[in-house]
Amino acid sequence: MRHICIIGNSAAGVSCAKTIRQTDSESKITIISQENYPAYLRFKLLDFLYQGIKESDLFEFAKDFYKENNIELVNNVVTHIEPEKKRLYFKEKGFLEFDILVLACGRKPKFPDIKGTNKRGVVTVYNFDDAKQIIETLPLIQTVCITGSNYVTEKLVDFFAQKNIEVKLFCPQLKINSESKSIEYITDSQIQEILGNGDAKAVKLSNNKIIGTNLVVYADILVPNIDLVKDTPIKYNNGIIVNSSMLTNIENIYAAGDVTEITGREKSFSWANAEQEGTTTGRCICQI
Ligand SMILES: Cc1cc2nc3c(=O)[nH]c(=O)nc-3n(C[C@H](O)[C@H](O)[C@H](O)COP(=O)(O)OP(=O)(O)OC[C@H]3O[C@@H](n4cnc5c(N)ncnc54)[C@H](O)[C@@H]3O)c2cc1C
Repeated sequence: MRHICIIGNSAAGVSCAKTIRQTDSESKITIISQENYPAYLRFKLLDFLYQGIKESDLFEFAKDFYKENNIELVNNVVTHIEPEKKRLYFKEKGFLEFDILVLACGRKPKFPDIKGTNKRGVVTVYNFDDAKQIIETLPLIQTVCITGSNYVTEKLVDFFAQKNIEVKLFCPQLKINSESKSIEYITDSQIQEILGNGDAKAVKLSNNKIIGTNLVVYADILVPNIDLVKDTPIKYNNGIIVNSSMLTNIENIYAAGDVTEITGREKSFSWANAEQEGTTTGRCICQI
């Protein structure tokens, strides 16, 4: 029986597994995720923050999926892979052997190279844990520092301003369409260090000013998560390079979703695109 391992339990990984199971009930399928949850609708995290949708709605997407499709879900961090030995290795001990590997490991936050980004209260809005941390911190904060320039930034600024939390926004280009007086645009300096012991307590700016805050949000710092293919023969550029069958340059190793790069094609970082690439991968694995 062949063993298909999928690193990534989100749009690309889940759609790949679903597609395989449509025609192949024999192969053993293992999905691995470093997040200790079943798959959830990542693109609805902002709606969850706004309290518009319930936690259960976020997780509805794949609730019974694993059991119904005979798929094993493993919660662990993959630290490296050995394509020649067809093995992947876990942070929490051990390894798995695969016949086919699918890298559906998405994007990851890349924090700026300053001191203190590892403190509690320094977050991005990439995963469910980030969203929960923001919600838990809300009653404790009067001020939030936000860095970013995309639509996530705009939504976050609006979210905090509505809660009468003072927003210090570090993005000279971004003007938020809001009447709120609690938004201050900081254009003449940047965050140079995050101060505090275990928890963020303040930020020090490049003009030496200090702003007290327990929450620092980096809203747009996601990059394709190519860590696992560095130091392997698998080719990558900004993302893992795949052909139109989502195959890397190594036989039996595919990649799908936000982590990929297809030469000559503009990348779309979207849920629909990740699902589509996962489906294509599943079809190519099953040759349908
Ligand atoms: C806040 C926010 C808002 C968004 N809004 C929209 C929107 O409105 N519309 C839209 O289309 N898209 C939106 N997106 C983008 C969309 O969510 C992504 O394009 C989509 O989730 C990509 O899916 P993916 O399967 O490629 O990877 P991801 O969803 O990033 O999932 C990656 C998976 O890999 C796992 N993983 C990574 N590394 C390892 C490792 N070393 N070991 C084990 N597991 C690992 C993770 O645990 C996770 O399960 C938004 C994203 C965010 C963060």
